[in-house]
Amino acid sequence: MKTILLTLCKWLGLFYLAKQITARRPRILCYHGISVDDEHLFSPGVFMQANTFAGRMAILERWGYKPVSLDELYRQHTSGRYNKDTLVITIDDGWAAIEHGMLPVLKKYNFNATLYLSSYYVIKQRPVFKLSCYYLFWKYNAPFVLAADSCLKPFTSLQQLDIDNLLSIWAKLDSSYEQVILQELADYFGEDLTKWQQNGKLMFLSAGKVTAMAEQGLAIELHTHRHKFSELNLADAAKELADNQHHITQLTGKTAQHFCFPRGEYQPQQLNLLAAQQVKTATTTENELVSKNDSLLMLPRLVDNDKVSELEFEAELTGLMTLLRLAASLVKRGK
Ligand SMILES: [Zn+2]
Repeated sequence: MKTILLTLCKWLGLFYLAKQITARRPRILCYHGISVDDEHLFSPGVFMQANTFAGRMAILERWGYKPVSLDELYRQHTSGRYNKDTLVITIDDGWAAIEHGMLPVLKKYNFNATLYLSSYYVIKQRPVFKLSCYYLFWKYNAPFVLAADSCLKPFTSLQQLDIDNLLSIWAKLDSSYEQVILQELADYFGEDLTKWQQNGKLMFLSAGKVTAMAEQGLAIELHTHRHKFSELNLADAAKELADNQHHITQLTGKTAQHFCFPRGEYQPQQLNLLAAQQVKTATTTENELVSKNDSLLMLPRLVDNDKVSELEFEAELTGLMTLLRLAASLVKRGK
């Protein structure tokens, strides 16, 4: 039904019209990782197929967008007026496969982009623990039967574990257990972790790759060191920011000045923390175009992923969905 309606809107020229009406509302696009195998089936919200991403960039080109940096967005905001068709591409986290799945396409179109980097797994260079556990249980859809010499034996009387059992034991252990547990789990299910190290599956970029990408013009900005923020008190949240800044400066030689809230979540009092650290802009995952009245520290984005069709993406990009949401809220208020 939605497809038929949107096709009709596009055919009637409403996408084009919406783009003109919303031209001075910047678009900040939000991306995450690229799938190297079947991760887009496991978590399509995080892992996009490379050809989906390439298709999206072709759509931007077709609609005449020339993506700019967050510094340029900030400059426009402080000048009092946003330019027409301002668009920013942001990529969250730092997944390894963006190197081959996103960078060449961005380069092809000469598109500016920003990577919000969480630095912990860049330094650790091992698969992201919790997500990898979820992935293995999803893929093999069976309980994990503990071997007699399992490192988990001292911590449980259970003979076999599901994902919840495993994570509740993990929560009581320190991080030095993570890779040992994951290796046991992978061996049990017959998954080859060395292959993951090679193809970047569920891995983050290496330090050398981040440095090389920064040199090629990718802006590297803040996303906290351990991908934690809203759940922390002010002192711990400040430390997350400082640690992240420290690693980014080491990797790029630059001071990062833009921030993305992990999972898009924050507590209101944490906004002061960002201002105190001279953060110029911060983005959430609220799905909307930017308006001139939005605070620079709570900027919405258009969250794109592998569950979104090209037509739906175009409807968001051109602002048609924004106008429809606006109309719906006016109707609701009128009732
Ligand atoms: Zn993130």
